Amino acid sequence: MRVAVVSDIHANLPALEAVLAAIDEEAPDELWCLGDVVGYGPNPNECVAVVRERADVCLSGNHDLAVLGALPIEDFSPDAATSARWSASVLDDDSRSFLALLPSLAPRYRAQLFHASARDPVWEYVLTEEAASASLALTDAPVVLVGHSHVALSVTEERGGVTGGAAPEGTEVPLEGRRWLLNPGSVGQPRDRDPRAAWLLIDFDAGWAAFRRVRYPIDRTQEAIRARGLPPTLASRLALGE
Ligand code: ZN
Repeated sequence: MRVAVVSDIHANLPALEAVLAAIDEEAPDELWCLGDVVGYGPNPNECVAVVRERADVCLSGNHDLAVLGALPIEDFSPDAATSARWSASVLDDDSRSFLALLPSLAPRYRAQLFHASARDPVWEYVLTEEAASASLALTDAPVVLVGHSHVALSVTEERGGVTGGAAPEGTEVPLEGRRWLLNPGSVGQPRDRDPRAAWLLIDFDAGWAAFRRVRYPIDRTQEAIRARGLPPTLASRLALGE
């Protein structure tokens, strides 16, 4: 079983298309999406249509829930709130009905999937050893997958604690004999200072997971963000990966 994992697409169609082209070259058995298909970016309906067509499982993230009206937009930062209101105003019925049925956590094969964390599947950022440790303690699958922070991460249990951290491109981890918490990073708005779109390839049979990055035409997404009147910082941050 070989699986491609994506997360936090955030309505960035050029990034999603570039990642899917890279995934197609690997021809995995399944594609898993950890949520936040919409929010921030300029192409919510297009991205939902692609994910709906391609993903074998998809979770709902805090941005998806906010755009549906299932979470209060007031809890968001000003730019996120502005983009959530705009996304809600353009979301079509097909996208809405697809997003409305998604869970924020799901078991799948030898993994447990959460948008954010096992402790709080919608909101908690796993960016500390304590948070990673809690998510591993609350689960028992060999692989625990989270998104939400937009930072690629690999953390494993060791001597009663956890070890690991940021997982830049080229990071490869052996699955056998240990449990892992992995965050593939973000397709549409990376925040680990590498602006390239992130995804993760897991080969459960061969026993490894590999962190991948792919270049995409950032300027196309930036132009579309400006053309829709969305906050300009949502365009500029893409080039910085923050
Ligand atoms: Zn997100």
